[in-house]
Amino acid sequence: MNDSPFRRLPGVDRLLGHPQTSSLLEAFGRPLTVEALRTVLDEARDRLRHGLCTPPTAEELIAEARATLESWTLPTLRRVINATGVIIHTNLGRAPLSEATLQAMRTVAGGYSTLEYDLERGGRGSRSLHAEALLRRITGAGAALVVNNNAAAVLLALTALAGPTREHPQGRGVIVSRGQLVEIGGGFRMPDVMAQSGARLVEIGTTNRTHLRDYENAIDEETALIMRAHRSNFALIGFTTEPTLAEIVAVARRHNLLVVDDLGSGALLDTGRFGLAPEPTVQASLAAGADVVMFSGDKLLGGPQAGILVGRADVIERLKRHPLARAIRPDKLALSGLTATLLHYLKDEALTHIPVWQMISTPGEMLHERARRWADALAEVGLNCEVVEGQSMVGGGSLPGQTLPTALLAIRFPSPDAAAARLRAHEPPVIARIEDDRLVLDPRTVLKRDEEELLAALRSLTGDWETGKPDD
Ligand SMILES: *Cc1c(COP(=O)(O)O)cnc(C)c1O
Repeated sequence: MNDSPFRRLPGVDRLLGHPQTSSLLEAFGRPLTVEALRTVLDEARDRLRHGLCTPPTAEELIAEARATLESWTLPTLRRVINATGVIIHTNLGRAPLSEATLQAMRTVAGGYSTLEYDLERGGRGSRSLHAEALLRRITGAGAALVVNNNAAAVLLALTALAGPTREHPQGRGVIVSRGQLVEIGGGFRMPDVMAQSGARLVEIGTTNRTHLRDYENAIDEETALIMRAHRSNFALIGFTTEPTLAEIVAVARRHNLLVVDDLGSGALLDTGRFGLAPEPTVQASLAAGADVVMFSGDKLLGGPQAGILVGRADVIERLKRHPLARAIRPDKLALSGLTATLLHYLKDEALTHIPVWQMISTPGEMLHERARRWADALAEVGLNCEVVEGQSMVGGGSLPGQTLPTALLAIRFPSPDAAAARLRAHEPPVIARIEDDRLVLDPRTVLKRDEEELLAALRSLTGDWETGKPDD
């Protein structure tokens, strides 16, 4: 029995005292290292029970423990290189931030700040002050409020302006065109948000056509407001009609109703300048008379995650005072980052400083030249590359169906799927697209500073693995 392979397995204490374990203790701490050693010992006993005759050595067990510890501590939220050509890619974290934005967030994150402190008075200040003056100045709105994200902004507006009250325990009516009852992904469906707010959804019109008289006819004494929602991720084409926001506002005014406009992405600049359809701007919605306009911080604005509400001062004030506002307030990182991003707009430098707008406005020749440069660099290692015409997308619930012409680096592989999987397994992972049986990479969304790492990842696609099967 003394010679049983179980007895020959080293104990946890012996492994802990082994010189090779000291680097694990240093890197991962004692409790986690002990847990990993126990885990690999349990696994080894299992293998012995299932017929393995020779127990692993201490060194082998420590190596296994290292791999276990690495897998336990590898972050799941990792940087990737986005070569998909989708500029605001929700799955890949939406807007990359400008240098000034990163700097501002870093400064505030690493220490204390005036988040809610008034330096002049030496006492309590207001968190809601920081981005709001800038938002007023840039959009011309009477007031502004920043919350955690735009979904929260929509929920707040509906709850505070049409949710149940003592006088209206069933909530009040919110009129929405059937053509705008959008699901934007991530489980955000306009009718569900409406139900959550306690407001009563009043659907009007048909999927493709809603007329001004549909709005008129739906109004009764229980109506609180008319809502417009940006379609964000689909387009209505063909036999369609919808009144303009200004026309809807005119109807609402006659009946003393509010108009809230969920712009989704909410551009502050005109996308029409870049050969795209004009994405509705925040300024245009306010000019048309919307009482509250809501949009995201991390879509076309190009900043950190946030939900922004701008509009009439008395209405925004009601939203600020609602208890829900406290539950969805933004943190200091979002506020410092948003402020820094907004400053780019105020200083008329958004196009040159905000990555999302830099990407949208990159001229075709420049994209072509970058793709060409990559192809040349990779020809040396024998990859079958060419530069082809393609399309980039803005994404992020803006400009559905609209594309920007681009140049793609296209590479042929026996199995493009296997090549894409291998790129995803690279450090940092590279996310590419497959088009016409080729792996394609769009320079538009690849940050300049990531280019060398991208080329290194592509160079690793040469060699034996190229038999068509992923080698994992
Ligand atoms: C994206 C979007 C939202 C949600 O915004 P988040 O910032 O992702 O919470 C709400 N409404 C519309 C129309 C959108 O496009």
